Amino acid sequence: MLSPMMSHYLEMKSKYPDTILFYRLGDFYEMFFEDAELVSRELELTLTGKDCGLEKRAPMCGIPYHAASTYIARLIGNGHKVAICEQLSDPKASKGLVQRDIVQIVTPGTILDDILDAKRNNYLMAVYSSKNSISVCYSDISTGFIEATELVGEDKLKLLDDVLARVKPSEILCNLAFKSTADTLSAVKLNYVSEFYPKDEIFDYSKAKESVIKQFAVNNLSALGLQDRKDLTIAVGAILLYFEETQKRLVSNIKRLSIVQDNRFVHLDILARKNLELVQSNSLNQRKGSLLWLMDRTKTPMGGRLLKQIIDQPLRDEVLINERLDSVEELAGDLILRNNLVESLSGFSDIERKCSKVSAGTITPKECLSLADTLAKLPEIKKLLSGCKSKLLKEAGDKIVILSDIEKVLKDAINPSAPANLKDGGYILPSYNEELYKLKNAGEYGKQWLAEYENDQREKTGIKTLKTGYNRIFGYYIELTNSVKHLVPDNYIRKQTTLNGERFITPELKEMEYKILNSKEQAIELEAKLYAEIKNYLGSYISELSDIASSVALTDCLLSLADLAVQNNYVRPLISNKVKHIKIVDGRHPVVEAMMEGGTFSPNDTNLDDDENRTMLITGPNMAGKSTYMRQVAIITLMAHMGSFVPAKQAEISIIDRVFTRVGASDDLAFGQSTFMVEMSEVSNIINNATDKSLIILDEVGRGTSTYDGMSIASAIIEYLSKHIKAKTLFSTHYHELTDLEGRLDGVKNYRVMVKEWDGSIVFLHKIARGSANRSFGIEVAKLAGLPDELIARAKEILSERESEGNVVTVKHEDVKIDTNANVAEIVNVLKEMDMNNISPLMAFGTLQNLVDKVKK
Ligand code: ADP
Repeated sequence: MLSPMMSHYLEMKSKYPDTILFYRLGDFYEMFFEDAELVSRELELTLTGKDCGLEKRAPMCGIPYHAASTYIARLIGNGHKVAICEQLSDPKASKGLVQRDIVQIVTPGTILDDILDAKRNNYLMAVYSSKNSISVCYSDISTGFIEATELVGEDKLKLLDDVLARVKPSEILCNLAFKSTADTLSAVKLNYVSEFYPKDEIFDYSKAKESVIKQFAVNNLSALGLQDRKDLTIAVGAILLYFEETQKRLVSNIKRLSIVQDNRFVHLDILARKNLELVQSNSLNQRKGSLLWLMDRTKTPMGGRLLKQIIDQPLRDEVLINERLDSVEELAGDLILRNNLVESLSGFSDIERKCSKVSAGTITPKECLSLADTLAKLPEIKKLLSGCKSKLLKEAGDKIVILSDIEKVLKDAINPSAPANLKDGGYILPSYNEELYKLKNAGEYGKQWLAEYENDQREKTGIKTLKTGYNRIFGYYIELTNSVKHLVPDNYIRKQTTLNGERFITPELKEMEYKILNSKEQAIELEAKLYAEIKNYLGSYISELSDIASSVALTDCLLSLADLAVQNNYVRPLISNKVKHIKIVDGRHPVVEAMMEGGTFSPNDTNLDDDENRTMLITGPNMAGKSTYMRQVAIITLMAHMGSFVPAKQAEISIIDRVFTRVGASDDLAFGQSTFMVEMSEVSNIINNATDKSLIILDEVGRGTSTYDGMSIASAIIEYLSKHIKAKTLFSTHYHELTDLEGRLDGVKNYRVMVKEWDGSIVFLHKIARGSANRSFGIEVAKLAGLPDELIARAKEILSERESEGNVVTVKHEDVKIDTNANVAEIVNVLKEMDMNNISPLMAFGTLQNLVDKVKK
């Protein structure tokens, strides 16, 4: 029969079967059975066994409780959840089985630990899909951030993919009915995010309503804008219910829900984010080399996290954008203000994450002290900000509350040399509390007290010879000689007769004795009590602390943007709804420029409008700088929408709704489709979703098939975009035959990247100029790449032979005459009807061949 402890273990485990159960036994967390086997394997721990009442010993492995957090973090990193079962009664004091229960479940989206990246949010997301909409809520419990949005319309799944690409949650919950659809999302298939975890029981309207009202302390849902928004309420509720289930407490640092509308931001899908390397570089697959890496000069973790959000979410509202720009301009123009603010922000601690620890009760004394140091900086920051003129900086200053009371309490209370382990006390200063002081100085204090007590008793009894003393058997006593026997007060309790007198004890003496003898334990207990009070006190200021955190985060970001602008010589872009063009003078690619070792970046102009100059058709050899240029235009445009200065001499930027990119090969293999198929499905996505307010970048479209097909399809795409979508488009191609489109199609203008031919070789000038490249310089590029001279010479020979035979593929547009009215519509119809997920490369090729046959007359 199972032992009682093991029965309890299995009962706990059955409550949370999908977790690894850490079962506290003394100074260890133990795991049993499959959990033990799994953990010993993953963390390389020794597997032992424990008698459990059954014939075979239960496999067991354990870790010391004080080292648990690193082990938990590793298991969470491997995608597991950990349930922590604690001892709730003192094993020494309890008879029979020690009382134990689950106190927390740690999951990837709810972990509160110092291993979290300080400069990144860690999100839990809940997705509730109903017939008409998908409601999404995401929250970072470690900072108190919570936001919700509702996705509607035919392309709501695509929108969800985009939200996933931006938020990149660590854990996603959904209603069961949605699970199979969720598995088909690109973000999931590309392993960009983890799998969706179905959990129907937390997607429930009445439970959601109750927990939302409780969490945000409101009377009804309308106070949050959630009236008549049942599905959104369910999604928010799911997050809160999951927090409740895993944390087993009210998560008090989550206080402000914001409901956002998708159209607040420039729409960027996974591809655009990846191709433009906004927060992660493709070649290095890390932060270095990304736009975030370049732009992040923040001094605080809160600022770092906000800057990532700012980069992830370029704004579309001209007022909000210009408010940011105003502040960046003010800071950029005032070196002293900048220096003073930087100084005040350095060493500023992570208030947001501290608030989450206050709420969880896990903040350490040392962290309290660093919070106090941080609070001490507030008056200076507030003063600096209140002197500012721009709206955002002024508001940030107004929102900072000076919390000198908290600072004083923390500094008065916490011992600067507090030990890391709180078990033996020593973290509260004795001077903070009289009682604690007495306990800490019990020996000293006891002597003094005794002397005073002796005097006092002499006076009260009138016995001059009254004396106090101590022995091991009776402890403290009062000794009186027999001559004063008749004067002994009633409250004296006789304990011993001596040669010429008697010894007594009193209740006060006993109490004092108890205090002195147990002073150490009592001091430890009192410190814990005082510390709990301090944490409660801090807990009542979470709102103020969150306000301070968000003001500081914003100030830090604006400062970072200003610093970037000044250091790299950026300018303020003119950006508004009135501007209809993208005109950039001497634009640079900010990251390529920053990564260049030696050499200088060649600046280039851009001129795109909604009329004559809608499409830039760029030709030029490989490596000439076409991709860099096109990305540079997109990045400068996006930076302007972030409220940042831009790398150029001058920039006028229209407000755009989306950026689309089709650049190079992407993660085709994950889809099991051919490269060309992926390319075409990406183009089809652009054609279906772009508007005249979009910016489109197409790099070498049509490359994945034969020359004629590729050229035809590329040509048709340009035509369709130019005629029907009218988006601002940058299109690079090595088919210089396409340059015939200028003059034949409204809005198309030819550009080329200049190269200098020199001594049989070429030199890249990285300069964009009007006009078209006359040939592709493939052989010269091959030479630069280091192919042997002999091979290069032979290639040149073959080329000249072919040219003389007239065999070279120089297809003129006369040969490809495109009936722009009839055929393009037809091509687009065929493209539209193609089911990209269910077509074999052979079928695709057949379809294309038909198209090409139609086009070529
Ligand atoms: P393409 O797309 O034409 O093949 P890329 O845009 O990939 O060429 O550019 C090739 C390399 O040339 C880049 O990695 C960069 O180092 C350099 N380069 C591109 N544009 C510039 C520029 N404007 N100034 C200096 N170097 C540049």
